[in-house]
Amino acid sequence: MPVPLLDLNVQNLALESELKAAFERVLHSGQFILGPEVDSLETKIAAMVGVRHGIGVSSGTDAILLALMALGIGLGDEVICPTFTFFATAGCIARVGAKPIFVDSCPICFNLRVDEVARKITPKTKAIIPVHLFGQAAELDGILDLARAHDVAVIEDAAQSLGAEYKGRPVGGFGTFGVFSFFPSKNLGGFGDGGIVVTNDDELAARARSLRTHGAKPKYHHKYIGGNFRLDPLQAALLSVKLPHYPEYTEKRRANAAYYAERLSKLPGVVVGGGGEKACQNGGAGGSPSGTRIVLPASHEQRAHIWNQYTIRVIGGQRDKVRTALAEKGIGTEVYYPVPLHLQECFAYVQPRESLLLAERLSKECLSLPVYPELTVAQKNEVTDAIAILIRTSLAARGQSESAPRDGGFSARR
Ligand SMILES: *Cc1c(COP(=O)(O)O)cnc(C)c1O
Repeated sequence: MPVPLLDLNVQNLALESELKAAFERVLHSGQFILGPEVDSLETKIAAMVGVRHGIGVSSGTDAILLALMALGIGLGDEVICPTFTFFATAGCIARVGAKPIFVDSCPICFNLRVDEVARKITPKTKAIIPVHLFGQAAELDGILDLARAHDVAVIEDAAQSLGAEYKGRPVGGFGTFGVFSFFPSKNLGGFGDGGIVVTNDDELAARARSLRTHGAKPKYHHKYIGGNFRLDPLQAALLSVKLPHYPEYTEKRRANAAYYAERLSKLPGVVVGGGGEKACQNGGAGGSPSGTRIVLPASHEQRAHIWNQYTIRVIGGQRDKVRTALAEKGIGTEVYYPVPLHLQECFAYVQPRESLLLAERLSKECLSLPVYPELTVAQKNEVTDAIAILIRTSLAARGQSESAPRDGGFSARR
């Protein structure tokens, strides 16, 4: 039975008649740029995140760009971001003329390391962009403390984390700005590109709103140079159809993650990302015992996870082999992300180019499994059974006892 990494049709076609009605509403309204559909979605998302302002934009990427532009960040400035993230985070920093300063990530929560951020703050630092990767909040307290102490802005890249929480409050509302994406593979997936910028700052919100339409205020009068970063009303109307179902999507993703954890953690050599919240951020020993083959993602108690990705770590250089074996059974996986940003060709000019070893290791170990809400029990079993068989065969191949796998193959020697 095929288990795709993501199946958009099961979710979207369940709402087909409502989506068509939303399309017809926009068609008949004759309004195709901004207006009430966009206003309404902005209000709903802002309320959900617990902030005063939402500004609907053309993509998550443009949301980051707009936030940087609204903060007036540019040439000569430095902006700190994780190296282990999607390209857009750093691409936008470079596009406004600033220098991306890459920091290493925690191998337990996959998010940027606060001690590394602290080490890289300089008088040129104008902002920190923590990414809430895979659906789980970054260690925000430490980042916000640093930002306050050094008087720099925080742009939360919550593209993957709408509805994720940090200490009981939704992410996106902690920083100067928060940004979200409605790219189809995100948890609130649209029908094309889209995103939103949120903030509690009235002045910055007004500036971002104006920059969204070429910095015009009033029309045809330009104090700043902006761009065309608008969210389409059609996109807003369609997303509004899905929004009421969002809590249910999240619950199903959580149930899927729990199901995987329950079944996979019983297998020999499979452990949950070690040590809990205390070990997290703490140098990356990872706390996994020797003989570990697979590390399951940890969901910290204080950071309600929305599971945009269920990302395991395959130890011992076996990731690509596991990926191929799963693909042969029709199970879709993806590697987020195979090349950390500090090693990207386009960022070779960012000097000094230091090694960021934890991220480099993550890029070789990470493998994301299907976790989309509509997975059936049979599909989930297909995934866990396939992994169980892989582990059993790798054990049998070396004639090892289950409790003491030695080096090589699936076993860990780090
Ligand atoms: C998806 C994503 C973005 C960009 O969003 P788009 O809507 O695809 O432009 C930015 N940052 C992260 C971490 C993302 O996952």
